[in-house]
Amino acid sequence: MDEPYDEKNDLIPDTCNCGRGKLRRGVTEYVTKVNGGVLVIKNVPAWMCDLCDEAYLTPEASREIDRIVKDFRDGKLLAKPIAAGEVELKMKEAA
Ligand SMILES: [Zn+2]
Repeated sequence: MDEPYDEKNDLIPDTCNCGRGKLRRGVTEYVTKVNGGVLVIKNVPAWMCDLCDEAYLTPEASREIDRIVKDFRDGKLLAKPIAAGEVELKMKEAA
């Protein structure tokens, strides 16, 4: 899936915040909470760090995600139910 417009790539940093990784085109999953539920958006195009797996969404992907989340919130999106688990992280008190 190569996109020809280069000017948009200027918005994407070519190194990761971790300082060492290189970003390459990939797909990721975007997980967000909507109305107390969890919405998972799969197959999201992003720039991925090859070292720490941090994902940087493309501007187009962010726009699409905004649209999907809005539709989901409005009940206009038919989403497949998924199993989800929620835990709270309990840190041990530092002695
Ligand atoms: Zn990184």
